Amino acid sequence: VLEVDNLTKTFGGLVAVDDFSLEVDEGEIVGLIGPNGSGKSTVFNCIMGLYDVTDGEIRFNGEDITSDSTHQIVTKGLSRVSQESNPIDLYSVSENIRLFTLPNSIRSLHGGASDEEIREYAARIDIEDKLHEMPSELPHADVRRLEIAKSLATEPELMLLDEPFAGMNQAEIGALAAQIERFREDGMTMVVVDHNMGGLMELVDRVVVLNNGDFLAAGTPAEIADNDAVQEAYLAGE
Ligand code: ATP
Ligand code: MG
Repeated sequence: VLEVDNLTKTFGGLVAVDDFSLEVDEGEIVGLIGPNGSGKSTVFNCIMGLYDVTDGEIRFNGEDITSDSTHQIVTKGLSRVSQESNPIDLYSVSENIRLFTLPNSIRSLHGGASDEEIREYAARIDIEDKLHEMPSELPHADVRRLEIAKSLATEPELMLLDEPFAGMNQAEIGALAAQIERFREDGMTMVVVDHNMGGLMELVDRVVVLNNGDFLAAGTPAEIADNDAVQEAYLAGE
C-alpha cells in the first residue's frame, strides 16, 4: 500500500535521508529503527507532506502523494502519531480526540465526531475511562495513548507510529504492543519507529534499519537483533 522510492531529504548541507526506499504491504507491521538522528522521523515527515522532499517519490495505494498537502494525505487514509505528544491542555481528552475528526469535511459540518464515536476510538486504545480528564492529569503512558486515539480518529488505513514505546516501562510496552496488534486484526497496516528493537521484537513482521540517513539492513526481528553491522551502528551512535 505504501511505497517510498529513493527518498532524499536535505536541510541545507545536511543529508538527513539519503536515497532511501521502503515498501509496505497491506496488513503488515514494519519496524523502522536506527540510532538517534538517523532520519526515521524525517521519513515520516516526508510521507505526511510535512516536509517537501528533496528527491524521490511516495505512493499510497498506487497514487503519487509526494506533492500532496498533509490534509489531502490524511484524508486519503494515512496518519502519523508523532514522537512528541502535543495534546491541547485546555481541552479534555475527548475534545482532543474530537479535534482530529474535523479534517473530515462532512463531520466538521456537524462539529466533529459524535460522543459515541469518540468513545469507540478511545476504547480501541483503552482510554475510554479517561475521556473527561485533562491531558495534564494523565500519566505518560496514557498521554501516548491519547496521541494514538487522535490518530485513530482520522480513520487511517495505514498508521505511522513514531517511538510509541518511548518512556514506557516493560508492562506498559507489553500492553501497548498488544493494543497495536489488535489494530492489525482490525485491518490496519502500520510502520512503527523505535530507537532499537525494544517493543518491536514480538510485534513486527520485519525490520528496516536506517543509519545516518542510509538504508543499513532489513530482515526479521531475529535477524536484525543478530546483525553485526546494526550492532556496530548503535555502538558508534553512542
Ligand atoms: P531520533 O531517534 O532522535 O528521533 P531520528 O532518526 O528520528 O532521530 P530525525 O529527527 O529524522 O532523526 O533527524 C535526522 C537528521 O535530520 C538529524 O541530523 C536532524 O538534526 C536533522 N533534521 C530533522 N529535522 C530537521 C529540520 N526541520 N531542520 C533541520 N534539520 C533537521
Ligand atoms: Mg525521531
